[in-house]
Amino acid sequence: MDPSVARDRVEEERARLEEMRSTFDEEHLRDESEEDSTGELSSLDQHQADLGSETFEREKDLSILEQVEAELADVEHALRRLDDGTYGICEACGRPIEDARLEALPAARFCVEDQAAAEQELRRRTAAG
Ligand SMILES: [Zn+2]
Repeated sequence: MDPSVARDRVEEERARLEEMRSTFDEEHLRDESEEDSTGELSSLDQHQADLGSETFEREKDLSILEQVEAELADVEHALRRLDDGTYGICEACGRPIEDARLEALPAARFCVEDQAAAEQELRRRTAAG
């Protein structure tokens, strides 16, 4: 893939992710101010019920934010690799990553085979953990 085309794609991806993150930050700030009022509930049962769903919502939000942050880190990493000329090379086996894959995933670090192996490893660890 042409490096300048690749850079455009990666930078587009970064803009999209940063947009997602700033939208999330705004929503998160609203949550913080709502939290103050829920502390004043007098019924313990009511409070616990609210707390449970709040925790769930927060964990869901956090996992989305973590996902966005992880993708942003990959995008920054891809930009550095564009700078040093290693973009599009699988970090595990050193072979070129297919253009079709880079078009779908501009920040891809691994070829299809190594990505599948890494995800399998992650699933194994998550299941055990
Ligand atoms: Zn590979």
